[in-house]
Order: sequence, then C-alpha cells, then structure tokens
Amino acid sequence: MLSLQALPAFDDNYIWSLSDDNGKAVLVDPGQAGPVLKAVADGLNPIAILLTHHHNDHVGGVGELLDRFDIPCYAPVDERIRRATHRVGEGDRIRVEALDLEFAVLAVPGHTLSHIAYHGGGCLFCGDTLFSLGCGRLFEGTPGQMLASLDRLAALPGETLVCCGHEYTQSNGRFALAAEPANELRDLRLAEVASLRAQGLPSVPSKLANERDCNPFLRVDQPAIRRLLGSRGLAADDRAQAFAALRSWKDGFVA
Ligand SMILES: [Zn+2]
Repeated sequence: MLSLQALPAFDDNYIWSLSDDNGKAVLVDPGQAGPVLKAVADGLNPIAILLTHHHNDHVGGVGELLDRFDIPCYAPVDERIRRATHRVGEGDRIRVEALDLEFAVLAVPGHTLSHIAYHGGGCLFCGDTLFSLGCGRLFEGTPGQMLASLDRLAALPGETLVCCGHEYTQSNGRFALAAEPANELRDLRLAEVASLRAQGLPSVPSKLANERDCNPFLRVDQPAIRRLLGSRGLAADDRAQAFAALRSWKDGFVA
C-alpha cells in the first residue's frame, strides 16, 4: 500500500511524496531540500526524484538532495535544469522497482516548453500544467500547445489523482465561479476546498473526473462558457480561441 503526501514548500508549493510502508519514497519537484530533510528525519527514505519543469520553485532543492542521496533524478531535456541523472521525454517509461511502480512520461508544453508530466501508481504529477480548478500560466508555450497538453491529461482515467505543484485552488475557484457561474458540482468542490483549507489541509490531490466536471480550463466546449466569453466580447468561435480567451481573462482577473 502506497501513501501519497504533499509536503508544503515556500508559500504555496507542494513537494509530492509517494511512499511505501517502510518510507521508501519517490519525490516530485523538490523546490527546497528542507521540507524533504525534515520528512527524512521522520523516517522518509528517498529512492528517486521526478522533475516536471525547470522553475526554481520545483528544482531548487535537487542539488542538496543529490549530494546527500545517491538516487536517480529524472528530468526533462532542458539545460536550465543542471542536476539530474536521467533525461526523459514523451513516451518514456520509468520503472521504480522498489515500489513496483511504473510512470509514463508525457510531454505537456504550455507553462514552459520542456514541461513534462508523470503518470503512474494512480497519480498524475503534472507540475504547473493542470491545477485544481485552473491551469498554469503560459510563460513559454502558446494557448494551442497548452490546450493540447490539457486535453491529453484530461483523457487519463477519471480516478487518477491530480497532484499539482501549487495550492492555488481557492483563488482558481473564484475565477471558475466567474467563468461558469452555474455549476453545482463545482460549488460542492468549492465547499469541500473551503473546509479543507480551514483545517489547514491541502485541497489536493483532486480526482481527474472532478476536474473535468469543475475546472473551466477543461470545459472550453461547454456552451455556457462559450456564451459568457462571447458576451464579454472575447472571440470564442472554436475551442482554441475559447481557451486562449479564458486564459488571458484569468491572467488579468482580480478575485
Ligand atoms: Zn512553474
């Protein structure tokens, strides 16, 4: 039985840990070493690191961890990520023997061009591509690239646990309310999120099926969202335009 844990880092990052009963753990996006080392002091035993993209809040702790632990570190092909032992990309599979796990690597350009995601063990480690009730900003990719990436992630099994890089769900939820005012399942999700956050608990992982029901960025085909974009004077004739309009609206959105 594996256990999944979100280790808080910085203000709103999560370092994901997927571990067995003995504490053997795969770590995802350790932007800081400190939270991992604290977990190590409590019995965690890192056996592999997965990196999704080059931003420092996702890779900043890797050097210190690799100096201390002689373990594989998988990363996208991108020279801005200096420390890694294996470079992986679309179609690669990563075997973690000790946990009897296999991860499929998916190229998901959009937030950055070399961004990748890892799917395995019932989890999707998607960095800053898909968030609960939102998606990442387009720092390097085009809206079309991001939409194609999100389409691929959205097609994974509905039970998949979406393990994203940040605790952004409540602010994303305020935009989701504006973009799609009538959505009962989303309202239920927002109530759940408010309760979790009031207890100081992470709002993630979420189930992928729930994101398909609630996340406006996975719902650009919904007539209500298209109509609302149109009423705001935003071109939304096809899904690519609708996605681009939704993403740029969110960029300037003040909740
Ligand atoms: Zn990022």
